[in-house]
Amino acid sequence: MPIRPKKIKRAWKPDRVAHQRAVDMSWYYNDPRWRKFSKGFKERHPLCKKCIDKDMVSPTKYTDHIERLRDGGAPDLNHLADEDFQGLCDSCHASKSGREAHGYKEGKGSNR
Ligand SMILES: [Zn+2]
Repeated sequence: MPIRPKKIKRAWKPDRVAHQRAVDMSWYYNDPRWRKFSKGFKERHPLCKKCIDKDMVSPTKYTDHIERLRDGGAPDLNHLADEDFQGLCDSCHASKSGREAHGYKEGKGSNR
């Protein structure tokens, strides 16, 4: 019978944690001020902005920071302004987040 090689614990290697975000922003998104703003924003901007640019119509599902929160986009929950955000549908939000994970940035300093 084959023997499975013993697991070697390398003390200098940290244990892997599954699906851990680089920066934990849950405190932000769980804040009632954010929830209220986000809800109102989606009512004011019911259609996905990127889809409108492509002459398509999709309902807004996410209140998206045009500049990523962790890059300094609108961190102050007391001063949330519509112009720092865009409404995105599922697929546009997924594609933006995916590109951001590979270094893509939107917002100030970009020439989109
Ligand atoms: Zn969209």
